[in-house]
Order: sequence, then C-alpha cells, then structure tokens
Amino acid sequence: MVKSYSDLFERPLNPALVEIKEPFLDQQQVRLYCLRLEQLFPENEALYRAISGNKYFKLKYNILQALKEQAMTLLSFGGAYSNHIYALAAIGKLLALPTIGVIRGESCQSLNPVLACAEKWGMHLIYLNREQYRKKHSDIALKAIASLYAPYYLLPEGGSNALAVKGCAELLHFIPDNMDTIALAVGTGGTMAGIIQGLYQHSNSTTKVLGFSVLKGDNFLTQAVRNLLSDTDTPLASERVNWQVINTYHFGGYAKVTPLLRQFMDRFEQQHALLLDPVYTAKMLYGIYDMVEKGRLKNTNILCIHTGGLIGRTAQLMK
Ligand SMILES: *Cc1c(COP(=O)(O)O)cnc(C)c1O
Repeated sequence: MVKSYSDLFERPLNPALVEIKEPFLDQQQVRLYCLRLEQLFPENEALYRAISGNKYFKLKYNILQALKEQAMTLLSFGGAYSNHIYALAAIGKLLALPTIGVIRGESCQSLNPVLACAEKWGMHLIYLNREQYRKKHSDIALKAIASLYAPYYLLPEGGSNALAVKGCAELLHFIPDNMDTIALAVGTGGTMAGIIQGLYQHSNSTTKVLGFSVLKGDNFLTQAVRNLLSDTDTPLASERVNWQVINTYHFGGYAKVTPLLRQFMDRFEQQHALLLDPVYTAKMLYGIYDMVEKGRLKNTNILCIHTGGLIGRTAQLMK
C-alpha cells in the first residue's frame, strides 16, 4: 500500500536506548548506552528494516524537497552494497516515487542481494565502470540516460548534504542531556555533522561528539564535516561544539575486516544480543572499547548510535 510523506516521515518514533554492561566499563566508571536506530519501526518488514538506521534521517528533508520541486524521480549514486541506495529504493517503493540508482561496477557481477532487492522495489539501476563513475557528474552517457527521467532530484553519493544534516540534527530528540560523549561511525560525515548541529541548537551543551572513521585516510573527514556544516544555516556549529574524528579504527579501510574485528563483533553480539555490521558499527564499538580500556574516557556517560546497516546481516541470518 502506498504511503504518504507524513505517514512515513512525520510519525512518532521511539528508538530504544539500552545500556551495555561490561565489568571493564564499571572499572573505568563508564556508562555506555546504545541508541538503537537499527530498529526504528515496529513493522517487521524488509522495507521498514531497509529505512531503519541513519539513512531515514538523512533522507527525510531531501524527500520533502524533491516533492516540493515536483521531481519525477530521485537519482543517487553508490557502491554495490550501499545502504544509502538500498534505503532510497525502499522509500521509493513505499511512497511510489520512481528511483534511479547509479552503481559503481559492472551489472553482471554486481547483482547482489542488495541490488536485487532495490530492483525488485522498482529502482532503475544504471551501472558505470570505475572510470565513468569517477567522472559521474560530467559523464555524457549518464547525462543522456538521466535526462530521460528528468526532472529528477539528485542526491549525492551517501546522501550527505545540508538537508541530510538537518534531518540528523533531530536525532538529538532521542539523546538524554546527561551524556558526556556521543559516539558514531562516520562514512561521509553527514550524520556526524547533524549531531553537531543538533548540539549547537541545544545551546549550552558541553557534550563531545566522537566520530569513528570507517575509511582510511587522515583528515579529509574532518574537513568534510566542516564543509557540510558551512553549507547549513548553522555555520558556527563546527567551531562551537566539541567534536573529533578518530582515524585509528578503520581496520585497513572501507569494508575491510580483520580476524580481530570479526572476533570482537561475534563476542559482542553473543554477549549483548545486539547485531552489528562489520563496515560501520563494529568498528565504532571496537574503538569505544579500546579507548575506554586505555583510560581515555574515564568516568563518563557515553551514548553510541547504532546507525543500522544490517542488510548483509539479515540476509545472512535468513539463510
Ligand atoms: C551510511 C552509514 C553510516 C555513515 O553515515 P555518514 O552520514 O555517511 O557518515 C554509518 N553507519 C551505517 C550503518 C551506515 O549505513
């Protein structure tokens, strides 16, 4: 059944906040909480699972803008396992809006369960090889194809822009005031910029934001977060709020997994009955655990955000 924008984006949400207990956390006088965005909706359906997590908040005001502009289609970019593309396809299906996913890679090798699902939900997939993908904003072939779907609303890769920041700032509604640190995994920085904006709008907050980068590289994400905030109506947020991107828990780079990370994730999941994904949330939690063990977060209340990303995991669990 087709939903309206307000059915989907103006409904009350009530994500669970759970405490994660471990003896070593007690020893460091740390209380660690997890905001479970991976289960945003009571509906136990693939479409709602697909829009759970941070992508729902990143897309909220972008979809509104697309509707205002009376765009015919929503067009975006991503890799073959992109959570952003997957969420966009699900929203397109729920709202009966045509979507186009421009995918990095060849079609034959990339029709994995994520893309198969996106296609089933009506997303039109266009494949670009790496060379074309790099030039995606100028590629003539892509322009020609996309013009068939015009007027379209363009979402950047990963969906991070000023409207995504605005949506993620609303996550502060779910975060108690007494948190010293808010931790999250960072891919493009849109969600982190949103948390920073939300804290800034909270005025006198002293909460620190720790972003765990899942990408290899030095300071480009710090710059990306700054740039995203400078495009919003709160350009001062990046100076007034205490925040930091941590670059030492990427485990070799995007989507790279080591035996150590895998082992941590398995143990964590068994012990806490919470599923993680190896690309984002496992790296964040590993980083938090390691910093606490090293005494770097002593005597604090930490809230970590479970940003979702369980597509791969649910496919695995259904086997
Ligand atoms: C997309 C995603 C992120 C990264 O969000 P950004 O706003 O790009 O930094 C983090 N966690 C999960 C599970 C994601 O799917």
